[in-house]
Amino acid sequence: MDYHSPAFCNARQPNYEPDSIMTEIPAYKRRLSVPANIGGVIVGGDAPLVVQSMTNTDTADEVATAVQVADLARAGSELVRITVNTEDAAAAVPGIRRRLDDMGIQVPLIGDFHFNGHKLLTRYPSCAEALAKFRINPGNVGKGSRRDPQFATMIEIAKDYGKPVRIGVNWGSLDQDLLSRMMDDNARRPDPQGPAAVMKTALVRSALDSAEKAEALGLAHERIVLSCKVSGVQDLVTVYRDLASRCDFALHLGLTEAGMGSKGIVASTAALALLLQEGIGDTVRISLTPQPGESRTREVIVAQEILQTMGLRAFTPLVAACPGCGRTTSTFFQSLAADIQHHVRERMPQWRREYPGVEQMTLAVMGCVVNGPGESRHANLGISLPGTGEKPVAPVYEDGEKTVTLRGDNIAEEFKTIVEAYVRRRYGRSDSPTAN
Ligand code: SF4
Repeated sequence: MDYHSPAFCNARQPNYEPDSIMTEIPAYKRRLSVPANIGGVIVGGDAPLVVQSMTNTDTADEVATAVQVADLARAGSELVRITVNTEDAAAAVPGIRRRLDDMGIQVPLIGDFHFNGHKLLTRYPSCAEALAKFRINPGNVGKGSRRDPQFATMIEIAKDYGKPVRIGVNWGSLDQDLLSRMMDDNARRPDPQGPAAVMKTALVRSALDSAEKAEALGLAHERIVLSCKVSGVQDLVTVYRDLASRCDFALHLGLTEAGMGSKGIVASTAALALLLQEGIGDTVRISLTPQPGESRTREVIVAQEILQTMGLRAFTPLVAACPGCGRTTSTFFQSLAADIQHHVRERMPQWRREYPGVEQMTLAVMGCVVNGPGESRHANLGISLPGTGEKPVAPVYEDGEKTVTLRGDNIAEEFKTIVEAYVRRRYGRSDSPTAN
């Protein structure tokens, strides 16, 4: 195709109406699901989408695990999963819960069980009691004739303690007996599907069959959450669309083994955004591999930012900043943008208590006069810094109106003072001692 040819241009013209206003995309509509109560946090139904995370400490190390759970909870994780893989880990769970309670951290703990969950939950009833949910991987419950009784043991304990379960299927540990049976059945079909399609179907079948078994054992429908994780974006979308259409269980959404750094964030965002936009997903976890020395809380912040930038939930005021270009020869505006975002995150624990609604606030830090004033006017609070060759002044906008122009060496501190005053004025309750 010659994109410059009149034929191409004309081919694009017929539907183009210069005066028409574009149609909005259909409003976000959440898939209907049965809500599950996880230690007081509701997942599914019309409850807000829930952010969760997982520790990477040795659970047997009670102190290190409690500290990391507390960090994740303070960063905004509303549920935290810990691995329960050994007797020492199971024995440590009640102590971890106690330490968190002593710190005033109420976040529900989820136990992640593989291979020996039936034994650990039987031998350590206080572990079962301290957990708010059990994650059961149907592919790792046991082999052959041991599989069903071991699965049944975990479900019976969940029933006895009134705990919900997540039936969490993962393609890295898919039930191999089920997969072989489905491959054989597929080979006998007149129109056999490829192995990838059979595997994706088997993931969904494993989750649904296990949920059916759990219900047959007496676990209530509303005590079951499902997940079917894979590591490819398109595969995840295919699997969850299918799973979502076949049941009304609340769904835990996440791309497994997303990877490190920007790759992990981009892959998770691409996959989750597609599904969330279709209303699929009730709780999310971003499985990032931390860089050496990087805080585990990154996965919580990424999950929050996905939900917030999609307009599905608000957690903390977000700072819009331009990328900078040849008009910004100093790094001042980048530092100010980072400084303001950091300041906002630091202040959120107190702001959240004292200034309801502050999480909806928008801020803009812009690098020059080209887009600075315009973008600043769209935000609740915006500052447009001087670009190269511009007058060394920084106009500040509040709710679309220019209110003050900052200049000199203390622009960053003065802008933070303006942010604090705006938060008190705009979000302070009239009965709050700090409201103006
Ligand atoms: S607002 Fe100015 S500094 Fe920022 S990217 Fe645009 S032109 Fe460059």
